[in-house]
Amino acid sequence: MHEMSVALSVVDHVEQAVRPDGAHGVRRVHVEIGELAGVVPDALAFCFELACSGTVLEGAELVTRFLPGRASCAPCGRTWDTGMPPDMTCAACRGGATELLSGRELRITEVHWSAEPAAPDPGPAPHPEESR
Ligand SMILES: [Zn+2]
Repeated sequence: MHEMSVALSVVDHVEQAVRPDGAHGVRRVHVEIGELAGVVPDALAFCFELACSGTVLEGAELVTRFLPGRASCAPCGRTWDTGMPPDMTCAACRGGATELLSGRELRITEVHWSAEPAAPDPGPAPHPEESR
């Protein structure tokens, strides 16, 4: 699955990033995903959770930002949304000198470190037994 290799590479990059002093883990990772990057955000979120298990990113939230594909025509200057699959032919002049402006992005934009140690899940609060 393509998303799994992307998720693993995101985890890898964050693990290699310099951890600020006093940080214990990663709370949130922001990524930008271009429409033409071939990544399904939902599938990536699912794989990300699996990829984080047992790493400093365990329990981190993945925040994805979707970037639509945009193209521009060199001869006439028209710009348009490419859609998916991408339409790379200018509708105005039928020119083929098309430049892709955005849509291939796949990058980490922000990492939020957690200053608190990851608290183990305490489970349901115990009910104190009433002594009678
Ligand atoms: Zn054109």
